[in-house]
Amino acid sequence: QHKSYIVGNWKMNGYQADISKLQAIADGSGSDAGVEVAICPPATLIAAFAQRAGGVRIGAQDCHAKSSGAHTGCLSAAMLKEAGATFSIVGHSERRADQGEGDADVAAKAQALHEAGLGAIVCVGETLEQRDSGDAIAMVTAQLAASLPGAASADWLSVAYEPVWAIGTGRVPRSEDIAAMHAALRATLTDRLGAAGAGVRILYGGSVNPGNAAEILAIPDVGGALVGGASLKSETFLPIIQAAP
Ligand code: 13P
Repeated sequence: QHKSYIVGNWKMNGYQADISKLQAIADGSGSDAGVEVAICPPATLIAAFAQRAGGVRIGAQDCHAKSSGAHTGCLSAAMLKEAGATFSIVGHSERRADQGEGDADVAAKAQALHEAGLGAIVCVGETLEQRDSGDAIAMVTAQLAASLPGAASADWLSVAYEPVWAIGTGRVPRSEDIAAMHAALRATLTDRLGAAGAGVRILYGGSVNPGNAAEILAIPDVGGALVGGASLKSETFLPIIQAAP
């Protein structure tokens, strides 16, 4: 059984001056041997953070599917690796919405990360409209199936279930709804990847905070959390790390 995996996604937040926050997170989480901790700062901070990360893994928030070329403003997996990232988030709903990324793009990005020797966290999740229509499980499992690279294994792939309506809203699904979704995602993973799919960690993300982390992280098949706002400060991120089983 893998350790719990608690990942902070800083999104478009953070400057050099925030290295002290990374250090407080590294210092505070160092003794928690049962938990793997990671931070995904903006790409401008990956190199500086990687040098001071201690036991904290440093990841990127996105990467391009191609390894080089005429793609102004983009970063390849190998560039992120050279800067010190060991993995990247791909397919976050904010990128799917703001940059129009589709499932095939996400699968190609995950594949590119793997070929460069990096890990990937593939994100999926339904909108409020899809939740209300009763289609969330069918929609999200189809999204995962189409966002997965052809062959993948637990040593480099994780999945994050992030309901769009739970991100930054303070709203979280009922625990039984998280459990049902994670069970369905597990079935999709074993269907697609065979036995390797059984070990892939499935993180929950969306308004995870110190008050709800213990309950969420105790749900079957929840292998960790992808944390946005509460990962920006050690005061709120460390209690989430400590809540991991
Ligand atoms: P919040 O924790 O701020 O809701 O963000 C979740 C998220 O999108 C992490 O990737």
